[in-house]
Amino acid sequence: HLSFALKGVAMIALRENIAEMAGYVPGFQPLDVDSYIKLNTNENPYPPSPKVLEAIAREVGEGLRRYPDAASRLAREEAAKVYGFDPSWIIMANGSDEVLNNLIRACAGEGEEIAFINPSYSYYGTLAEVQGARVRTFGLTENFEPEGIPEHYDGKLFFLTNPNAPLGFTYSQRYIADLAGRLSGILVVDEAYVDFAEESSLELVRSFDNVVVTRTFSKSYSLAGMRLGLAIARPEVIAALNKIRDHYNLDRLAQAAAAAALADQPYFLECVRKIKETRAWFTRELEQLGYQVIPSSGNFVFASPPDRNGTRIYQGLYDRKILVRHFTDPKLAHGLRISIGSREEMERTVMALRELGPGR
Ligand code: PMP
Repeated sequence: HLSFALKGVAMIALRENIAEMAGYVPGFQPLDVDSYIKLNTNENPYPPSPKVLEAIAREVGEGLRRYPDAASRLAREEAAKVYGFDPSWIIMANGSDEVLNNLIRACAGEGEEIAFINPSYSYYGTLAEVQGARVRTFGLTENFEPEGIPEHYDGKLFFLTNPNAPLGFTYSQRYIADLAGRLSGILVVDEAYVDFAEESSLELVRSFDNVVVTRTFSKSYSLAGMRLGLAIARPEVIAALNKIRDHYNLDRLAQAAAAAALADQPYFLECVRKIKETRAWFTRELEQLGYQVIPSSGNFVFASPPDRNGTRIYQGLYDRKILVRHFTDPKLAHGLRISIGSREEMERTVMALRELGPGR
């Protein structure tokens, strides 16, 4: 019914690219989500820091009649301390998705080109379609090296997801610096998962004026439900992004949550430590079950089942109320992307996988 209605509208008023685009469908979110082991959208199994919950509770009250701080100053000051950049180099966002969107709006006009790696985060493509920008994708070799990027690439934006999602590998900082130097446009290093990795590209922001690093609070800070992200870049880039974002892009609760989450680094580090420990354990278990697992630097692993029948495993897990992502692309070896939950959730997942067996 919805598509019928949209088609009707499209004939009257929609821009052609909007009428024709498919739109992005995020990972499945069942209404009775708590009855599942939910390992399909890389959420954090641990709650946000108690200090975050206290900070949000303090904001809930009559002060909500006032607009939030349009510059998210307190949150940016906390981010400045954590990352070692002046606040003028930092913009807060309503989820890192918002800042990815604004980067495209700021840099890529209709008919201009943006690029990213396939596979990586397909939402970049959706955002470009909205803008009427052209999309170019570059594939990966078996060793996870991007293929076919020209010596000098003049697209307006290049999105590099590091660590890669859904595969979980990382590019070397040397590779990323080399790539930045070959682009006339902006290199966006999407570090949604970098807190689970060993190295970040933040320092490249100081030495390359075309590098932007984006971060999210949805994974390592357990705040997917608050919609919080940030970007770090030269003040000229940040100023441009500030011109085009919603002026009150973060509500009062989100700003308080962001500041408190950043301020509680011990809690954050302990969560990350536990998830990395569980990731190592789960990887070994999968390998013992005959799965091929890509060593992961994210809060998820990408694993191909012994019979390369990801659909069978996906369905078998689903029947046992365990949700994962599966990829039907044969180039991805019919793999599954499984978020790292709590140790107990992963033990139950291993038990379910054992029941499902190696297949034919
Ligand atoms: N980048 C990547 C690579 C992601 O996987 C995600 C989560 N889907 C995002 C960005 C968006 O994160 P956020 O929740 O901050 O919008």
